[in-house]
Amino acid sequence: MKRDQFQKLCRDTLKGNDFSFSQAVLPEVKKYLKKENKEKLPVIWLETNDSGDNNIAFMNTTYPYLDRVFEDIIDLWYSNTFMAAQGINALDILEKTAEKYAHEYTLVVEGAVPLKYNGLFNVLGYSKDYIIAAKNAVRWFGKHAKYVVAIGTCASFGGPTAARPNITGSVSVSEILDRAVINVSGCPVNPEWFVGTLAHLLMYGMPELDNLGRPALFYGFTVHRHCQRRSYFDNNNFAQEIGDSECMFSLGCSGPRTGADCPYRMWINHVSWPVKVNTPCIGCTNKDFPDGSSPFFTPLPKKSGSKKEDSGKEQDS
Ligand code: SF4
Repeated sequence: MKRDQFQKLCRDTLKGNDFSFSQAVLPEVKKYLKKENKEKLPVIWLETNDSGDNNIAFMNTTYPYLDRVFEDIIDLWYSNTFMAAQGINALDILEKTAEKYAHEYTLVVEGAVPLKYNGLFNVLGYSKDYIIAAKNAVRWFGKHAKYVVAIGTCASFGGPTAARPNITGSVSVSEILDRAVINVSGCPVNPEWFVGTLAHLLMYGMPELDNLGRPALFYGFTVHRHCQRRSYFDNNNFAQEIGDSECMFSLGCSGPRTGADCPYRMWINHVSWPVKVNTPCIGCTNKDFPDGSSPFFTPLPKKSGSKKEDSGKEQDS
């Protein structure tokens, strides 16, 4: 399958074809691995400072289901959430994987990286001889990875972990690595953004990224562009209170300045998304989330995103 066909299939989900990803893309991944005699993507997943919401979102992947992702797309060698091994045995696997797949593995980092107090706010492992602070682990494993994927807004941009007053001195993954980082932001991430990115890396290498380092395939348009309430916005028909069916720009919706395909891809088995259940978008994929969206539900200063202004491309936050 050619790259543009793959991208079209990912986007076909936007047209209500819920099964496109698992029924069309997944067989292509298998065919590709067989034809090219390649192995699945070796992955090391480090969880640093976050709420763990992104691995929960990942577990909720439905097209394809989690077992298919493990079976057909990735070899998840190390992850403190998903692996059975613990303590020194787990660290042993981490070390051996990094050695065996040096410059071939994909490093997934979930969470921001605390720097204060020498990084001791987040320790990934320790023995009587050493302590592995997250900041050192991300630097070292990031240096020897083929690709680095930051999953979730904390890893991508600092997110809630680095929000005011940021007592741990947390920063994003890209701030401590001198290399390209693919930011798959979201609080939490939509599992299809993440799985689609992994499939792209496996078959075609680096995806096209937007100006915030995110795969343009999923973040290239504003939420506002495809929102089901867009016609209300265009006709200046605004909600007075939560629960009204009109556009929620008046209630502080951040859709006009937020890049993501939530209105069509949706969440939880493609069932819903915030605006559909009467909650304004809070801009969770943005670089300045949450400080830049706070206090939530405060109207943006002017009506931005009129037909003329909204070219469909994300407006930077
Ligand atoms: S402002 Fe929000 S609710 Fe209104 S059309 Fe845009 S995304 Fe939808």
